[in-house]
Amino acid sequence: MAPSHALRCCKRALNWIPVLFINLVVGWSYYAYVVELCVCEYTDFMGRVDRSQWRTSCSCSQFRDTIPNNAERISYLVVFHVFFTMFVWAYWKTICSTPASPSKAFGLPRAEKELYEREEQAERQQEILKKVARNLPVYTRTAGGAIRYCDICQVVKPDRCHHCSTCEMCVLKMDHHCPWVNNCVGFSNYKFFVLFLAYASLYCVVICATVIQYFIKFWTKQLPDTHAKFHILFLFFVAAMFFISILSLLSYHLWLVGKNRTTIEAFRAPVFANGPDKSGFSLGFGRNVAEVFGDEAKYWMFPVVSNHADGVGTSPCVLSNNIQHTVDDSKETIEEYLHAMEEALNITIDPACLQEPPLASDVIQQLDVFGFCLYGMLTCMSCISLLLYLEQCVYIYKKMPYPKKTTIIWITGAAPVIATMACFGMWIPKAVMFTDMTSNCYFAVVVYKVLVLIIEELGGSDGFMKRFLGEGFRINTGPCCCCCLCLPRVPMSWRMLFWLKLGALQYAILKTVLSVLCIILWTNGYFDLSDLEITGTAIWINPFIGVLTIVSLWPVAITFMNTNSHLRGLNIVPKYAMYQLILVLSQLQTSIINILALDGTIACAPPFSSQARGSMLSQQMMIMEMFIISLVNRCLYRRTYDTLPSEARDNEQNTKVLVEHDV
Ligand SMILES: [Zn+2]
Ligand SMILES: [Zn+2]
Repeated sequence: MAPSHALRCCKRALNWIPVLFINLVVGWSYYAYVVELCVCEYTDFMGRVDRSQWRTSCSCSQFRDTIPNNAERISYLVVFHVFFTMFVWAYWKTICSTPASPSKAFGLPRAEKELYEREEQAERQQEILKKVARNLPVYTRTAGGAIRYCDICQVVKPDRCHHCSTCEMCVLKMDHHCPWVNNCVGFSNYKFFVLFLAYASLYCVVICATVIQYFIKFWTKQLPDTHAKFHILFLFFVAAMFFISILSLLSYHLWLVGKNRTTIEAFRAPVFANGPDKSGFSLGFGRNVAEVFGDEAKYWMFPVVSNHADGVGTSPCVLSNNIQHTVDDSKETIEEYLHAMEEALNITIDPACLQEPPLASDVIQQLDVFGFCLYGMLTCMSCISLLLYLEQCVYIYKKMPYPKKTTIIWITGAAPVIATMACFGMWIPKAVMFTDMTSNCYFAVVVYKVLVLIIEELGGSDGFMKRFLGEGFRINTGPCCCCCLCLPRVPMSWRMLFWLKLGALQYAILKTVLSVLCIILWTNGYFDLSDLEITGTAIWINPFIGVLTIVSLWPVAITFMNTNSHLRGLNIVPKYAMYQLILVLSQLQTSIINILALDGTIACAPPFSSQARGSMLSQQMMIMEMFIISLVNRCLYRRTYDTLPSEARDNEQNTKVLVEHDV
């Protein structure tokens, strides 16, 4: 008993990870905006303060008097804090609201409960439930026509109520279980959730709108080199990325509010006595909005409770439409019950939830207007990034010298290739395994090519060795940064360069070989990602690939860390940052979503099983993210940079830097 309890505690703790992640991102964005942009470095941006002066002094307050445009700074801070407060308020209200569960009236009275438990025949049990439900305001049925009853909570489920396996309770007007707030979104907090999405997107808009001018200055190199620059760069990207993803979710939920539909009902229409009806709960646009946001418009903007209904969902229109069909339930014959029960028993676990990913035709069939728009937009995005990439290939091919151009063509191809593969995966869920493997193999080559690019920019292997032969390279970097701070510096030699190259190259080769092996095993049913048994192959191959990945990232990180000061003029830092971003998004994000799907946090919604829906989600996010990255990469690589300073001048600069460091 104890281990299962511990396991449950572990799982509960794990469920807080996405919330922690969001809070860290929000906390960092606050720091980057308020401290780095508005308070400290503002003077730097205006170019009024000498950098050396800045370095010697740690206190920002000394420079406050010199800020020329105080009004702008204060207005930024005020607007930012208004949206920040509203966003955090709505977010925490969504997290902290306890989901509303059915009242005691929906539980079986003691006598009926005993009867129900003793009864073994399903149709008799249904009869008992029907008798109880006659006195309750319950108008929806299972797809088979039976009374909806939760065996775990032992209640007759009110209309729109569903059992959440993560919260382990029945939730009134359940919309979905949201991992990002680690709570069920339903009757008690749907308004807060929609406000949270709205304020989150406004928060991103405020950040993007005010940061963009510094962002542009950054690209056009009008700003001095400070660490604030990178906070600003990432602030803009992160805000833009979140904005796109949140906006699509927000527009979907606003559409649902207008239709008085929950996400679950949008996937599977509620069944009334006269059959399934997607719009069964709709009361007309105005009343639908009031049902979520309350009658008084003055409270709409604030995440406070403003509707006083009981959440059981007895809409007057439902009453008038369906009541005459439900009252004469008693006249139904036993045969009809039997038939209904047979269907109901088959339906309790929707077969689609256990199935493999759906066919492309099923995906297209279940698309509604919103889905078509979303799919269309995403397909356009991946097409645009691919076309831009092809155009850029021609440009690079014409303008760049030989060994460098193939390397750059490989590296800039990562984002468009991943976006295109994700687009295929989105339309054809059954092919996800192949598309994922193609993009992963491609990226494995890119890891090696980034190393090659750094070496080529420094003049190829010969040029590289001329500069660095005998120099101590710091190797406490990359994936092992925390655990081996005390690692000694290693002098650079031809052998060391060989090992660095080999370390990165092995991944490109082995990853491809192992992917092919996985596909061969999979065709014979020996490879299944969800199979976590010790006898399965996935549990052996995947950690091995993980180790190979870390081994290959290390040489690239070492080379970058020890050479980036020489390559600043080539914008190597943002280029490297983009490569890291692709790495994090394509590996980490996908794994997090996969774990959430395996764990059941991402609910099953026919025709998608949890896993298929999770992978669908990550494909869609990937397309948007890769689209943005390919645009940025285009700006970064499609520029002519000044040639590197000669070695002698370089050494001079190095000694200068070293002296500064020692001081
Ligand atoms: Zn339940
Ligand atoms: Zn839940």
